[in-house]
Amino acid sequence: MTEQTHEFQAEVAKLLDIVAHSLYSEKEIFLRELVSNSSDACDRLRYAALTKPDLIKEDPEFKVILSVDQKAKTLTITDNGIGMTEQEMIENLGTIARSGTSRFSEELTGDSTKDINLIGQFGVGFYSSFMVADKVTVVSRKAGEKAATVWSSNGGGSFEIAEGTREGRGTTITLHMRKEAKEFLEPLRLRNIVKTYADHIALPVILKAEKEGDEDEVLNTASALWTRQKSEISAEQYTEFYHHVGQAYDSPWMTLHSKVEGRIEYTMLLFIPEQPPFDLFSPERKSKLKLYVKRVFITDDCEELIPAYLRFLRGVVDSEDLPLNVSREMLQNNPVLHKIRSGLVKKVIGEIEKKAKKDPESFASFWDNFGAVLKEGIYEDTDNGERILKLAQFRSTKADNRTYLADYVERMKEGQDAIYYITGDDIDALKSSPQLEGFAAKGIEVLLLEDAVDNFWLSRITEYEGKSFKSVTRGTAGLENLADEKDPSKEPETKAESAEMDSLIALFKQALEGKVKDVKESLRLTDSPVCLVADDGDMDIHLEKVLKAHKQ
Ligand code: ADP
Ligand code: MG
Repeated sequence: MTEQTHEFQAEVAKLLDIVAHSLYSEKEIFLRELVSNSSDACDRLRYAALTKPDLIKEDPEFKVILSVDQKAKTLTITDNGIGMTEQEMIENLGTIARSGTSRFSEELTGDSTKDINLIGQFGVGFYSSFMVADKVTVVSRKAGEKAATVWSSNGGGSFEIAEGTREGRGTTITLHMRKEAKEFLEPLRLRNIVKTYADHIALPVILKAEKEGDEDEVLNTASALWTRQKSEISAEQYTEFYHHVGQAYDSPWMTLHSKVEGRIEYTMLLFIPEQPPFDLFSPERKSKLKLYVKRVFITDDCEELIPAYLRFLRGVVDSEDLPLNVSREMLQNNPVLHKIRSGLVKKVIGEIEKKAKKDPESFASFWDNFGAVLKEGIYEDTDNGERILKLAQFRSTKADNRTYLADYVERMKEGQDAIYYITGDDIDALKSSPQLEGFAAKGIEVLLLEDAVDNFWLSRITEYEGKSFKSVTRGTAGLENLADEKDPSKEPETKAESAEMDSLIALFKQALEGKVKDVKESLRLTDSPVCLVADDGDMDIHLEKVLKAHKQ
């Protein structure tokens, strides 16, 4: 094979341009990214070796080695992980394959301050190499294969691929440091960065001695963070681990580290992000929690581990009871996994409840980010749905902020026996719905439900604490039994029985024949002359629209 030139995917080219030319303040994160990739590559090989032990027979100790060449001004990061084939290198190091990429590139504005912020959230991964290097060479050999491939680029629009050689499996990345980045050739600086960003990595990160005869130095603690005592882990270490495991760049909103002992044993180290991840609402509803068995990474794609409505969780679950040779197929309908899942869900909801009590303001921001996702649990989780409904906060015609159902019920008027709501997808349009007028006149609070998911749980859950849910766009809405707010002494209204009204309605019916089911005098309007409502037995108007949009 001769050398071939490949173009970077357009998103990558844009990203590289920003990475290389903008003043990115935390340049040292390139090392975290590269060490993190090495650690992932070792995790994946460790898993593959469960069924094919030969893959690691000759070199069973996983490690990452950093070495510096002061003369050549290079820093090299080497691992003995799973490695990449030529094809994998072209794909992985030429595109961004991560979910959410299209959204990411849509949001790139060309304004570098804004874009840097966005990149901070999205993550630069391998491409962060170009923050410090003006040339990067990657030599990789896939475990179990003989051939090695060399990838190289100067961070412009393209990269080269050529045949290479490498002793043993794994990946070696050589960074030709820019002049401004020569601090990253100093052992002291490297030691500090690894301590800060990669101490939690479960394999040794070794700094190779520069002089012949000197000792190599292990820079990190090299034990899986979740196996350590809580008291020995600092907030910063948790955050760094979250960045690694969650591929995230914000801080965790909540950190939940707990060891469960008893008939089944497992450790969970879970995080709820502060910022919603990019792909939160993608239709696959995939979770990214990592499943380990006795410290060995098994998968980060296990539907059985957590329900979809908790897909915003990041972190690790490490089981002592699942067999090490567990295949991904065996995870389906596995009773141990089932118990872990239900324990985990209860723990997470319990912690969110505590936080809601202790810090309402912070909980409100959590709900802003993830409420629409968590609400899926109201109807999907028969065991915990009720608890989630209690946690749920909704906008309403009375509250400035969102309100709990419990508070709504407390504010209910005398004689009011239902929880009134209106659904839609635009909060401002909802607020000015004519259907609300009669309720406003009587001082009755109406929930303004703005998430598509509200329609779904409302079609399953009929009441809260004995109060039924009623749509104000449906049927008579029950307004006739309630007193007017401005004039409470006013008799509850009855239908005007004038002959004029009857003939007016008859006229309307004639004019609208075939277009509407019925025309009725309504108590729900005060200012607007007319509004559309659904019949009692019929589907809520907005639900009908949502279902049509989903082609159901
Ligand atoms: P991410 O880690 O989020 O997937 P990166 O840009 O960091 O994104 O890496 C892109 C991909 O390149 C990885 O998913 C992995 O498949 C591959 N890769 C990167 N570094 C290594 C490595 N040291 N060994 C094997 N594969 C690697
Ligand atoms: Mg990465």
